[in-house]
Amino acid sequence: MPSNKQEYQNNLLHRIKSINKPIALMEVCGTHTMAIAKSGLRELVPADLRLLSGPGCPVCVTSQSDIDSMINLVRDNSLILATFGDMIRVPGSSSSLQLERSQGADVRIVYSPLDALELARRNPGREVVFLGIGFETTTPAVAATMLMAEQENLDNFSLLSFHKTVPPALELICNDPELSIDGLICPGHVAAVTGIAPFAELAAKHDLPCVITGFETLDIIEGIVMLLDQIDNQEAQAQIQYQRIVKPEGNPTARQISAQVFEAASSPWRGLGVLEHSGLKLRSHLAKWDAKLKFDLSPVEEIAIKGCACGAILTAKSIPTDCALFARACTPNNPIGPCMVSQEGACSAYYRFQSYK
Ligand code: SF4
Repeated sequence: MPSNKQEYQNNLLHRIKSINKPIALMEVCGTHTMAIAKSGLRELVPADLRLLSGPGCPVCVTSQSDIDSMINLVRDNSLILATFGDMIRVPGSSSSLQLERSQGADVRIVYSPLDALELARRNPGREVVFLGIGFETTTPAVAATMLMAEQENLDNFSLLSFHKTVPPALELICNDPELSIDGLICPGHVAAVTGIAPFAELAAKHDLPCVITGFETLDIIEGIVMLLDQIDNQEAQAQIQYQRIVKPEGNPTARQISAQVFEAASSPWRGLGVLEHSGLKLRSHLAKWDAKLKFDLSPVEEIAIKGCACGAILTAKSIPTDCALFARACTPNNPIGPCMVSQEGACSAYYRFQSYK
């Protein structure tokens, strides 16, 4: 990179502004969603370049049926549910963890799965369930926690796994005939674990340029230029812009820990339906720590939130301002759907940073 960062960025923006045909790029990471909104990039690029948001926010893609089953779990059992902060405010079809907590349920916000494990150690007479959500980036830490629970034979601890993996969702997006995407801004954090292989496979299979991109504004601008160059040169390969973090081989140790603990299972996604091999469940040797089995959680019917367009937004069929409830009935203080709750949700990003205000 030239020493004059501003001049370098201006040159890249000049390159972006030189496009002479409509191009649609999709980001599939909630951190990119937020970074693009915060930087005002959508307003800086020409109208012919559409920056779409895909299914990249783990809270947002958790299905309504899974949200409802999590709420049923705390409602029907006297246990401690430990969860990351965003999940507590996600509306179920008739309640939320926040509402359940106000009515006496013991729901605790934790900052790592190890905090939840510690809760179990300190409360030997109580069941402690950790709510696991997140993609490949989050899974290794949860897997390591489960190995510790096994090592300590901590009987009062279990995991409610809503973990998902990104490639099956990208496969669905790439096969969607209603979407015509010219390139993918691929998730840097996920690729730091998976490496380049899943994105190289996607690029080759769908003839689609893919660039694994970092999260600074300049990273994203560079990633976009790399995609535009591929499009101009009629190439379709996976490249790494975020080389300071992502190695081509990813993090084999993290993958190995996850594979020791989890196996692929079908999983319901908001807006995308049930995708085979897109979820992660505990392997059979860890079954006694599986909250779904321990508390005999039965599948819950999917009940859509009336008027909420999160499903369409997560598949780039709509943008947040298309939703009639956006910034009216639905705001970060009074969220109707998960995309307005999550720090990485598209509705929240548009509300907080877009110029419509
Ligand atoms: Fe759902 Fe609210 Fe977003 Fe509309 S604005 S799609 S109701 S989260």
